[in-house]
Amino acid sequence: MLCGGMTDAISIARDLIRCPSVTPADAGALGVLEKLLKAAGFDVHRLSFGEPGTADIENLYARIGSLPPHITFAGHTDVVPPGDESAWTHGAFSGEIEDGFLYGRGAVDMKGGIACSVAAVLQYLAGHGGKPREDGTGSISFLITGDEEDISVNGTIKLLQWAASRGEKFDHCVLGEPSNVETLGDCIKIGRRGSQSGTLYVDGIQGHVAYPNRAANPVPDIARLIVALSEEPLDHGSAQFQASHLEFTSVDVGNPTSNVIPGQARAKFNIRFNDLHTQATLRDLIEQRLAKAAGNRIRARIVWEPSNSNVFVTKPGAFTDLAVAAIEEATGRRPELSTSGGTSDARFIASYCPVIEFGLIGQTMHQIDERASVADIERLTKIYRRILDRYFA
Ligand SMILES: [Zn+2]
Repeated sequence: MLCGGMTDAISIARDLIRCPSVTPADAGALGVLEKLLKAAGFDVHRLSFGEPGTADIENLYARIGSLPPHITFAGHTDVVPPGDESAWTHGAFSGEIEDGFLYGRGAVDMKGGIACSVAAVLQYLAGHGGKPREDGTGSISFLITGDEEDISVNGTIKLLQWAASRGEKFDHCVLGEPSNVETLGDCIKIGRRGSQSGTLYVDGIQGHVAYPNRAANPVPDIARLIVALSEEPLDHGSAQFQASHLEFTSVDVGNPTSNVIPGQARAKFNIRFNDLHTQATLRDLIEQRLAKAAGNRIRARIVWEPSNSNVFVTKPGAFTDLAVAAIEEATGRRPELSTSGGTSDARFIASYCPVIEFGLIGQTMHQIDERASVADIERLTKIYRRILDRYFA
């Protein structure tokens, strides 16, 4: 046993959960990893990133080995707030185990996943003379941030830039976000859709409802534009993705009266888009459709929100095959390669190397009583271990 902590996944997960690391706090979480990885011979860097108007955030990069092939395990130790702590069956930061479940904020998203990857790597190294490969080649690293759940500006983006500036090259990445829907082994995420939000504004002329000829009502006009933009499909899906879609999420005129025609109407929308678009081509497409629907009469415009959620995909190939085989061996299930769901830090990592997401089951993430099955934590550790065996074979 290494000094200062047990090295099995359950113990590491409990040690992490007991640090109340609600973004931006670290609360000792990265210290748990630093201690374990240093004892195993990793070169560990603790990095604090910040910028005006944001809280400084702790991050960690640790690597063992200096030659390729280089596999990196990525993740975040920050968690969302517990909500009403009195509603939890066990304390949100207690790490209690009951009826085969480990309770606590982050058990699933994603301290549990990090614990499995660290335990798998430590076990793997212990079985291979402390090195990725006996001939001295191969590298394993951890890219761990404390800034994923909130605004994500002082985390993975800056950590990757820092690593690139010192010449770090990654060949492949496994991100341990909770990718499975119902059963461990049902899903590997190989990509994510992009996300782009905007607000549609329609200008009219304010006036008295009794004299509509002296006013121009933007309400029917924005309704027409909403229908036009919602009805026409953006595409019909691609090889790896479902169809892109645009959803309006609010319509507002800010009018407290019933006798005034409002001067302006606005509607917010979000688009989840696939790899047939980029943010730029998508904005052009929507603006063209808007211009066509508005014609010369309706005065409409869109204000786009800044977004760093671009689409990415890791094309199925040798690396995804290796992960599928490891998962099938450990669980008896052949996982689906999926691109559904929300965004994650994989969108940033994808600019540096192929990345897949595979972790625990997402069902209770961000909920009261977030919990992970102890058996799944053990199985996920075994899966990561088999990924390493195959990667360095
Ligand atoms: Zn997460």
